[in-house]
Amino acid sequence: MTFQNTREFAQQLDGQDALRAYRDEFIFPQHNGKNVIYFTGNSLGLQPKRTKKYVDEVMNDWANLAVEGHFYANKPWWDYHERFAAPLSKIVGAKPSEVTVMNTLTVNLHLLMVSFYRPTKTRYKILCEEKAFPSDQYMFQSQVHFHGYKTEDAIVEVKRRDGEHNIRLEDILAKIEEVGDELALVLIGGVNYYTGQVFDIKTITEAGHKAGAKVGWDLAHAAGNIQLELHDWNVDFACWCSYKYMNSGPGNASGCFIHEKHHNDSNLPRFAGWWGHNKERRFKMEPAFDPVHGADGWQVSNLPILSLAPYLASVEMFSEVGMDALITKRNQITAYLEFVLHEIDKEVDSTFEIITPQDQSQRASQLSVFLHGEGRTLFDYLMSNGVITDWREPNVIRLAPVPLYCSYEDMYDFGQILKQGILQKLNLNSL
Ligand SMILES: *Cc1c(COP(=O)(O)O)cnc(C)c1O
Repeated sequence: MTFQNTREFAQQLDGQDALRAYRDEFIFPQHNGKNVIYFTGNSLGLQPKRTKKYVDEVMNDWANLAVEGHFYANKPWWDYHERFAAPLSKIVGAKPSEVTVMNTLTVNLHLLMVSFYRPTKTRYKILCEEKAFPSDQYMFQSQVHFHGYKTEDAIVEVKRRDGEHNIRLEDILAKIEEVGDELALVLIGGVNYYTGQVFDIKTITEAGHKAGAKVGWDLAHAAGNIQLELHDWNVDFACWCSYKYMNSGPGNASGCFIHEKHHNDSNLPRFAGWWGHNKERRFKMEPAFDPVHGADGWQVSNLPILSLAPYLASVEMFSEVGMDALITKRNQITAYLEFVLHEIDKEVDSTFEIITPQDQSQRASQLSVFLHGEGRTLFDYLMSNGVITDWREPNVIRLAPVPLYCSYEDMYDFGQILKQGILQKLNLNSL
């Protein structure tokens, strides 16, 4: 399709948008009486209007039933989490028994590393991407220390080549082969939080297994954003948070995937708790742990129902929409944003560079833009003009045109505001 950088053209695309109605399902912060242009759904998704109903239901059941809500609530609390299995498994490409929800993301990665990072004297290394999300870096360091290894020795990072913004698949595969017999675990972010690069999960998982390692994925920026086939790709385990693309609210619960090939392996250690115990016998308070078969067997505590309620609202919305429709719009709106950026770039002196891969198979909802020169002033200009984006050192703003609620007209408006901001800055500089 040939795009045009005009309001009429953007409105025409909005008119043809199959997800158009969902924009009205979200609550937008206001700027001068208008919806903000929201580009940070990769950090904290907007609040869906239907979420409040799900939370109120729990509040009411708690008020009216108190402890009896565990069994007699409208959605009983004792197995509330099981409502996620069917819809969530579709979003990540798994069998229902392979997914569960609990805790928060970094906590779950630690818990699953208890099962899947089993270093030995000779095979103890963890392979990850250079500049992984800081929480993941701290997690790796603390895990290898816990097992008595040194960071420099046990953590292997795959680096970008000089002058390149993204990591090449061939370099990841070569590094896996090089570490070979010493490799215990590959754990990478499925979509890089900084550049928006999407990794080839299937190929990397296969290579990790060939080297004899376990392969897990941090899907914080991937869940609800990219097509996932975790079961078919033979991924050992994966975790994601629900507050980014999945709109479940600040700091909210995490989802986990554990491949069914591991469900009955009684040699796998795990840190257990009563919610992972045999469902029928959970309240018999027996001394010996008998895990539920499936991802639910990794549960620890009884679940924070008030947190799960917004996540359930979100998962049900995603299953209504389906990943296919989301991905179709995602590709088009991201391409349109890219086009608008290039048009503005032509109209003013070039001051920025898109560092996210151009190749659609290597990116999803996010474009990261490197601002040369005084990027921070431009960022401040955008924020004070109703464009919510975020700033990452040294000079990057990240733009996520989330398909569920961003419009093509937003992209056009953003382009105009960006242009004004750049022109104003150029004028200031020439004074
Ligand atoms: C957002 C994000 C996190 C955050 O972890 P929490 O435990 O939910 O605070 C971790 N890893 C990655 C890759 C992220 O993008």
